Amino acid sequence: MPRQPSQERGCDGKANLGRRYQANANRLALRHGKCYGVYRCPHCGGTHLTTKLDNAEQYQPLLYVTPCPAST
Ligand SMILES: [Zn+2]
Repeated sequence: MPRQPSQERGCDGKANLGRRYQANANRLALRHGKCYGVYRCPHCGGTHLTTKLDNAEQYQPLLYVTPCPAST
């Protein structure tokens, strides 16, 4: 039986940034004034945001880290 990736498992409430994760993450970083990291989700194969950039949690290696917006 082939394994099907499940979007329902472990990904509730997490937006999949898709293939344009860099642009999406940058836009969200600017909007929220935070730095974000993007990691590949082992559950759905998509890309999710995390604010944990210091390996405090056992996420996958980050694919991308946004520039930190200057707080004004
Ligand atoms: Zn996921």
